[in-house]
Amino acid sequence: MRITCVGGGPAGLYFAVLAKLADPGHEITVLERNPAGVTWGWGVVFWDDLLDDLFRYDPVSAERIWESARQWDEYEVRATGKPVTHLAGYGFSLGRHRLLEILAERAAELGVRISYRDELTDLSDLPPADLVVACDGARSRIREQYAEHFGAEVEVARNKYIWLGTTHVFDTFTFGFEKTEAGWIWFHAYPFNDRTSTFIVECQPSTWAALGFDTLDARDGCVKLQEIFAEHLNGKALIDHRAEVGGTGWLNFRRVTAHRWDHGNVVLMGDSAHTTHFAIGSGTKLAMQDAMALAEAVASGDDLAVALERYEHRRKAALAPLQRAARASSAWFERMPEYADLPAKRFSYALSNRRGEYPMWRFVLHMATQNIVARTLLRWTLSARRWSRARRRPNTSHSVAAGQAIPNTA
Ligand SMILES: Cc1cc2nc3c(=O)[nH]c(=O)nc-3n(C[C@H](O)[C@H](O)[C@H](O)COP(=O)(O)OP(=O)(O)OC[C@H]3O[C@@H](n4cnc5c(N)ncnc54)[C@H](O)[C@@H]3O)c2cc1C
Repeated sequence: MRITCVGGGPAGLYFAVLAKLADPGHEITVLERNPAGVTWGWGVVFWDDLLDDLFRYDPVSAERIWESARQWDEYEVRATGKPVTHLAGYGFSLGRHRLLEILAERAAELGVRISYRDELTDLSDLPPADLVVACDGARSRIREQYAEHFGAEVEVARNKYIWLGTTHVFDTFTFGFEKTEAGWIWFHAYPFNDRTSTFIVECQPSTWAALGFDTLDARDGCVKLQEIFAEHLNGKALIDHRAEVGGTGWLNFRRVTAHRWDHGNVVLMGDSAHTTHFAIGSGTKLAMQDAMALAEAVASGDDLAVALERYEHRRKAALAPLQRAARASSAWFERMPEYADLPAKRFSYALSNRRGEYPMWRFVLHMATQNIVARTLLRWTLSARRWSRARRRPNTSHSVAAGQAIPNTA
């Protein structure tokens, strides 16, 4: 088959890897408008479920992702006027730049052609292909070109957010809420290598305007945010990539849905088909799981139209609960000031329950982990679990010492 992927993000590159693994005879080209090694965004978080899938579909790239990922072991919640609280839970983070580097390298090893600085402006410009995968992100040009057919809808969320980086390395996943004269403003931050953390700032639009972000450029906006969050940054800078190209990175999240995902031999995948609010940190995972499902559907040997329909049904069913959780979660942040007067522990509990799916056993566990002895036990349990997972990893050749199963730095 001749396959063209438009977009070299996690979805496009991972699909190219899996399709080539399924049939080395496929001729696969990935078109990416950016130069090699250039991307937007900072680190992304993910959990065991994605790692398990990655090891199942391609142990080689999974091993590299795992080795480059950083693990964090709890959530820390800081809010003006409240003592710091801790919530149980662990996860992983990885720089988007490093993730794409791993996937591009793996794709090239398998014989995929990646054409950088190659921006598609119109589908009719493409050379003939049996399958065109539109993995060109949330603002997909291909989806827009056939907007009516795909039945795409874009809903713009109310809050303002900006995706920044910082050279302050946070100890763990940290939520920080600051009360200013203009209202509450907060960050979600986590380390993703030994030099850098992701730092996403969010606030209501009235607070954003009252703080002057509607007029400040990227550099002055960062300075203002550094002042607001000074006590969390240890004197380190916030970095907005937009400072180099003008404008600022402040945005409103765009929730994309599409009624249909295929049109002849063209199929949507990843953010071009659906976006999921960053408040639950799952968009990359869902994009890569789309790639897994599409590669399997194509490899089934069924008629292409049947395969694409099966892919769409399978993925829409899998997405639904996470999209509900993402909606509930972003709505919680839109109403955040209503929770601000809660005492520290109840505030943290409300935050962790924002997805609307927090089971009672986790609440009990959370309350228990406020106790230092219980927290120590929990750490031991997590270490044992990591050690046992390292032993259980399928088809991998890594050898890691107990307690070092997941390296801490990229
Ligand atoms: C603030 C924020 C934080 C996030 N945090 C997380 C997180 O912690 N965990 C997580 O799992 N997800 C997170 N996400 C979501 C995640 O970034 C996306 O869901 C994911 O990148 C989707 O992958 P994709 O490959 O579908 O699209 P993209 O990553 O957007 O890739 C699309 C690619 O297509 C290229 N392209 C676009 N148009 C064209 C064209 N016409 N021609 C050629 N190339 C083109 C682009 O340059 C890009 O490289 C976050 C998102 C945001 C906004």
